[in-house]
Amino acid sequence: MFEIKNICKDTSARVGIFKTRHYGFTTPCFMPVGTNGAVKTLSSKELEEIGYEIILSNTYHLYLKPGEEIIKSFKGLHNFMNWQRAILTDSGGYQVFSLSPLRKIKKDGVEFKSHIDGSKHFFTPESVIRFQKILGSDIAMVLDVCPPYPCSYEEADKAVELTNDWAKKSIEIAKESGVTVFAIVQGSIYPDLRKKSAEFLVNLDFDGYAIGGLGIGEPKEEMWKMVEIVNEILPKDKPRYLMGIGKPEDFIEGIKLGVDMFDCVVPTRNARNGTLYTEKGKILVRREIYKKDQNPPDESCHCFTCKNYSLAYLRHLSNINEILGLRLNTIHNLTYYFHLINKIRKAIINQNVLSFTAEFYKNYSS
Ligand SMILES: [Zn+2]
Repeated sequence: MFEIKNICKDTSARVGIFKTRHYGFTTPCFMPVGTNGAVKTLSSKELEEIGYEIILSNTYHLYLKPGEEIIKSFKGLHNFMNWQRAILTDSGGYQVFSLSPLRKIKKDGVEFKSHIDGSKHFFTPESVIRFQKILGSDIAMVLDVCPPYPCSYEEADKAVELTNDWAKKSIEIAKESGVTVFAIVQGSIYPDLRKKSAEFLVNLDFDGYAIGGLGIGEPKEEMWKMVEIVNEILPKDKPRYLMGIGKPEDFIEGIKLGVDMFDCVVPTRNARNGTLYTEKGKILVRREIYKKDQNPPDESCHCFTCKNYSLAYLRHLSNINEILGLRLNTIHNLTYYFHLINKIRKAIINQNVLSFTAEFYKNYSS
């Protein structure tokens, strides 16, 4: 299902195609986050026009709202949101641990209270795979235990043990029901726990592997150290997905270490806060200096926003909290992200990843 097309001679970067049951997408890739079945402010058509081939949505949220019955009546999320390309759904593990006001981890699953109405629910490794089958996810994720940062060695070890145990149950039910599923490597910032987790999961032969539990407050050097350790163990012929990480500079560093897939709320959330990503780095559209600026946010960008609007207008929309401003900013940021990844792919194909990296950092200030 994963075909590697090009391998970088200087780093672990590669270009590949991952074919799911109904859509093939090119890697490395970034997945815009559509938690509730919508990438905030944009339609499916707009995402397609930018070029995105895969988006991320969330089991936890869709299970609570609109719920199983409505998704079933539409024969899945693709029809419900009218998006015919690939969808990866997170299992809800991270959301249960980060959003739910109350949760109890048990041997066979996790009991939690909804952050919406306080109602009680129970997720098991099997039930989240079954629900992701109903969603019609191209890629489902296993239910995992996500300890916070910092956490003790003992707590991280316990999370690895339980995540491994649940992964075994998940792969069985996924194979039975024909669901493409990725495992999630945990282990906090403890190298031996990361190794233990990755080695166990590799033996279960998943369709792909995610690295979870990072980007939650640990120092960046620790994060990349963990990615490097894990990627040495993960099979080269399966995609690797670094969960929740996605600032422009993270793509460069992650891809060089062999990461194929990313997701992050940064480009969309920051767009709504008036932060735009450009070739030169981040800009804040509300700044006084843009008051009369007739230039687009990024001269080199060909997005709908940059082709049609000035910084002064975007600043004005932001100042009056106009919805159009949120949309235009989101279109720009997601276009910038899409093209950045595209440029990295080209650099891998042309064997100039190192010079591309040097050029990127020369222009970009984070
Ligand atoms: Zn633009």
